Amino acid sequence: MNEQRVVVLGAAGFIGSHLVDRFLAEGWRVTGVDDFITGTRRNLEHLAREPRFDLLEQDICGSLDGIRGEVDAVLDFASPASPIDYLEHPFETLHVGSIGVENALRLAKRTGAIFLLSSTSEVYGDPLEHPQRESYWGNVNPIGPRAVYDEAKRFAEAITMAYRRYEKVPIRIARIFNTYGPRMRLDDGRVVPAFVAQALRGEPITVFGDGSQTRSFCYVDDNVEGMWRLLHSKYEEPVNIGNPHELSILEFAKAVQRLVGSDVPIVTKPLPQDDPRLRRPDITRAREVLGWEPKIGFDEGMGRTIAWFRQQV
Ligand code: UDP
Repeated sequence: MNEQRVVVLGAAGFIGSHLVDRFLAEGWRVTGVDDFITGTRRNLEHLAREPRFDLLEQDICGSLDGIRGEVDAVLDFASPASPIDYLEHPFETLHVGSIGVENALRLAKRTGAIFLLSSTSEVYGDPLEHPQRESYWGNVNPIGPRAVYDEAKRFAEAITMAYRRYEKVPIRIARIFNTYGPRMRLDDGRVVPAFVAQALRGEPITVFGDGSQTRSFCYVDDNVEGMWRLLHSKYEEPVNIGNPHELSILEFAKAVQRLVGSDVPIVTKPLPQDDPRLRRPDITRAREVLGWEPKIGFDEGMGRTIAWFRQQV
């Protein structure tokens, strides 16, 4: 049998490590690459004796020429992705979204692999269209603190499309909306681990601003199914992958209190600069092109996530 092989860049990250598991379960060989800047060794520990998995510990901004042999797909999930992480690593974030993505595209070209980019709802910035469709060009502040992530990802999309147009590399672009689940880093600063950890520890829940800003949360297994289908589609334009179930951050804080069973107080802190006011994916395209939509409801996904965080706290 002709075994397929995928290279997962950012394999030790939250979504990257779940993708590694999925491709192994589907019978693929997997080469992971990570420099552990924000990824976690624990996310891959269970694969220590897996013969179809190997790991290269390196920054993808360095040469990827060490990856030899046949490759069928390159999945680029290598980037700091939480606001705290990319504000702490601004240059690494800019480089991995530009130099790193070009290296990854070169690897795909050299090996004849399909290239899949993990892009982000941040390309829409603080959106003036709601919900966000793929046709929307966004409202991004190019000089604000979030720009190190947003503009790197916009450049990543631009260079991915250029490799499609001029180098004939087959490409896929997933615009990933807020995703949550087991293996998120407890201290990555994002709202899901932050609120759950606060509720579990009996600390106040810190809502930034008045909590009226919205997010729409997708469980990681649904995301991974979307990535799997997108890779196997022939679709070479961006596709939103997210859950349209939209909540204000204050509603989310109350949901965490309810699901953890905790009566910790909710306190407010200043809203970070350029924090998007509204965010919800329009997933019409994913439904039509991939036959995909999220299957895991909010309470179920949060239940699984809280159970996992309980073991970490
Ligand atoms: N947020 C919050 N308290 C926290 C962390 C985040 O109120 O302790 C808010 C944040 O201001 C934003 C939303 O939750 O409006 C989602 O933030 P996150 O960092 O998870 O990711 P984003 O969607 O902004 O990239």
